[in-house]
Amino acid sequence: MLGLMMAEPLRVATIIEHAAKWHATTEIVSRRPEGGIHRYTYAEANRRSKQLAQALLKLGVANGDRVGTLAWNTHRHFELYFGVAGIGAVCHTINPRLFPEQLVYIINHAEDRLLFFDLTFLPLVERLAPVCPTVEKWVLLAGPEHLPARSEMPGLCSYEDLLSAETTGYEWPSFDENTACSLCYTSGTTDQPKGVLYSHRSTVLHALGISLPDSLGCSALDVIMPVVPMFHVNAWGLPYAAPLAGAKLVLPGAGMDSASLYELMENEGVTFSAGVPTIWLALLQFMREGQRRFRTLRRTVVGGSSCPPALMKAFVDELSVTITHAWGMTETSPLGTAGRLKANQLELPASEKASVLAKQGRAVFGVDMKIVGDDGQELPHDGEAFGDLLVRGPWVVREYFRSPTPGELTADGWFRTGDVATIDPDGFMQITDRSKDVIKSGGEWISSIDLENLAVAHPAVAEAAVIGVPSAKWSERPLLLVVRRPGLDVSAEEMLAFFRGKVAKFWEPDAVEFVDALPHTATGKLLKTQLRKDFAGYSVA
Ligand code: ADP
Repeated sequence: MLGLMMAEPLRVATIIEHAAKWHATTEIVSRRPEGGIHRYTYAEANRRSKQLAQALLKLGVANGDRVGTLAWNTHRHFELYFGVAGIGAVCHTINPRLFPEQLVYIINHAEDRLLFFDLTFLPLVERLAPVCPTVEKWVLLAGPEHLPARSEMPGLCSYEDLLSAETTGYEWPSFDENTACSLCYTSGTTDQPKGVLYSHRSTVLHALGISLPDSLGCSALDVIMPVVPMFHVNAWGLPYAAPLAGAKLVLPGAGMDSASLYELMENEGVTFSAGVPTIWLALLQFMREGQRRFRTLRRTVVGGSSCPPALMKAFVDELSVTITHAWGMTETSPLGTAGRLKANQLELPASEKASVLAKQGRAVFGVDMKIVGDDGQELPHDGEAFGDLLVRGPWVVREYFRSPTPGELTADGWFRTGDVATIDPDGFMQITDRSKDVIKSGGEWISSIDLENLAVAHPAVAEAAVIGVPSAKWSERPLLLVVRRPGLDVSAEEMLAFFRGKVAKFWEPDAVEFVDALPHTATGKLLKTQLRKDFAGYSVA
């Protein structure tokens, strides 16, 4: 017997429609890549998204067609999220920090029909256009005054021209909630980029999931600034969760440097932000240098890579900002776990609370997880046993877009994350490593993440990476790579001594090399495949 409730399909357009109706005057503020601050309301954003929808329909964009974006966090990108998906087409956000060959691969693989880009990326798209034959029209996300005088790009036009030709009287259509709504390729840290095709249903459920108080938590009282780019797993869902909650949304545009972020946070009264550790490490440095304080910022979510406990402590102690550590991946929309204390942990001593919060957190409703050993058997939740992390749920990938091996990815109903983790009795998951980054020494596993977190707690260390290098006796041994803070010195002996007594003897790195910089992926993660190549011939004494 079926229930007797309304079968209203979940669609992302209902989120913007809700915000326009019930939070009509709440603002979206964004820094325009072409200069200046833009400020308008959810009601206006909805109207303009509808104008965009009509323009797309006139251009012949049909259900399921892919519409690409190469854009920063701005109000126009926000309109694309809703205007494209609202008509049943697919908003394909592309990470402009990828190598040009990867961009060409992704655009051709997705067969994007239109491509919307920010002025910043004009030189880039001029190079891409000749090798991306499926793109019929390139649209500059600015007014016509910014169009180049001459261009070979097919159908080049300005976004504002496109919108101004449309009226505002349009109703969002209804369709099956399993219709695809957006597409995001994994950054290819460990492999070729693979497309994750989100549905309206998965996106709306994920937006509700991240809004829960124990996950990211979003309220109409919040002023939310996603620093995580809208091309990095839909800015972790915040462009949906903010209008869903009726929170003011602040979009930092191309200004991802600490000074620009700080200025916007202070001017707009940002209460809540989110981004990868690199952003917060840089911001902490900036705040310390000028002895600055936040007027309104109270919390931030850090994920994408492991958040060093030293960073969490500095934010609370020095800036009164709490960090929620979260874990996820492109394949999980992205939120999987978030680290918020449970009632039985509130009375723990401060140091124990800090180590609970340093973990990647507990499962958010909507994502089930388990850890399994090499034999596929589930491992206990004792905080000690570690194994491959598997997840499942309505916003977890079932199959990659245009996969050459359909049906294989989640044949047993679980998605293998490629991460190795522990789960403790309170359900807190902790990532030990990516399975490809784990160091295997004498048959035992060493967590590179734990060693990196320890290294960055040293005052002279700006950034650190630990990789396994070949060892005749142990098969692999940890090598520590360190970027020193400008003007601060630390010797190799001092650095290695820093680990003594803090980790098991056999975990202590065998050697340290000081480097000027470490390589990163397009989403700001350490590029360990590159480091392993660079130090392939390295031999530890
Ligand atoms: P890609 O897989 O292309 O690098 P993703 O953004 O999907 O891009 O990366 C997901 C991976 O990032 C996870 O599988 C995990 O290894 C890592 N990751 C994400 N959040 C955390 C975190 N809080 N701590 C440690 N690793 C994390």
